[in-house]
Amino acid sequence: MASDSIVFDAAKECLKNLARPASRALGVYNAGLSADAVQQKYGVARIAKLASNENPLGASPKVIAALEADARFSAIYPDASSAVLRAALAEETGVSAENIVAGNGSEDILHMLALAFLNPGDRVVTLIPSFGLHEIFPRMMGADVTLVGVSAQQQFDIEAWEQALSTPAKMVIFSNPSNPVGCMLGREGFARIIDAAPQDCVLVIDEAYFEYCENEPDYPDSLRVLAEQSRPWIVLRTFSKAYGLAGLRIGYGLASHPELVNLLDRVRTPFNINRSAQTAAVAALQDKQHVRDSIALVTAQREKMAAELTDLGFTVAPSHANFLFFDCGQPSAELAQRLLTYGVIIKPWRETGYENWIRVSVGNEQDNRQFMQSLKYILAEEAA
Ligand SMILES: *Cc1c(COP(=O)(O)O)cnc(C)c1O
Repeated sequence: MASDSIVFDAAKECLKNLARPASRALGVYNAGLSADAVQQKYGVARIAKLASNENPLGASPKVIAALEADARFSAIYPDASSAVLRAALAEETGVSAENIVAGNGSEDILHMLALAFLNPGDRVVTLIPSFGLHEIFPRMMGADVTLVGVSAQQQFDIEAWEQALSTPAKMVIFSNPSNPVGCMLGREGFARIIDAAPQDCVLVIDEAYFEYCENEPDYPDSLRVLAEQSRPWIVLRTFSKAYGLAGLRIGYGLASHPELVNLLDRVRTPFNINRSAQTAAVAALQDKQHVRDSIALVTAQREKMAAELTDLGFTVAPSHANFLFFDCGQPSAELAQRLLTYGVIIKPWRETGYENWIRVSVGNEQDNRQFMQSLKYILAEEAA
């Protein structure tokens, strides 16, 4: 046994020496718990999974039918260029197909961007609190990441952005509306940040929640604004949220130049979008009513939930997406743990300064009621 452990320790030491320092230093992505795991552990009858901003209506029935019909081709490699999907996206967005890149989730495109552009020491500017991968992938490459905070009112802090962008940077990444806060950068703020960004950087605008606010009058038409820029940029969107395809992993990027798409093509895995995902995404684009229904449900439920949380005395950030971010007035990790015993999964925030904040997805009426009821039970127990 003793010699086994010496071998094991030697292997561990070797692994440590072989690994790139930037990989070794990375934190682990906080992917959250599955409904099955929570059900098994706590033995609760019903799970309200409100931690990953999934669509409570699920995928469109048209998507399910297309997947069933396609299943018999499972032995055949998918189209490595996702041509049919990119053509459908070109029609949907008005962006030409050669300017579109597909990803195994939009997180795959964030990964490609990091691989294609970032050297150790390059500066990346992004938001805090933030979508973890906007920071993790740049750090994986050894980049220096500058984090720009939100204002006291939980809004984009335009002046802080202008300040952060007044020194050189290789890449600028932010989500609009932001995850986890839900705040939306309006037209004027968007123009100011784009103007302030160094001329020789890549702009990455993550619009994972685009569909929830594309009709709000102040939501910037990023494609139109960016089209006037003479530098590389990419707008990321996804089928994971409003389209309800998170389990299939499919996202896309609308890029300034075909050359940017070609560059990303070189660093991605060749068959990065599996055939089910390509089939499902094409079918999903043909059922816009499902997307409209999903958004109508979520926005109505969101306003109701926000009002209830505010009534309980919590500070709730104004949301333009399918989740709410609120200050629960105590360490959120502990509250999250207690909510699990009621079958409710939410996301306690972990970034420094936000340890009392929770991000909760807006689910269907039943899920949201289970969350609110459980929260009230816990508060009542605490008061007793
Ligand atoms: C959910 C989310 C994504 C990830 O989307 P996938 O397409 O599922 O990889 C990307 N960015 C933000 C800001 C998100 O919230």
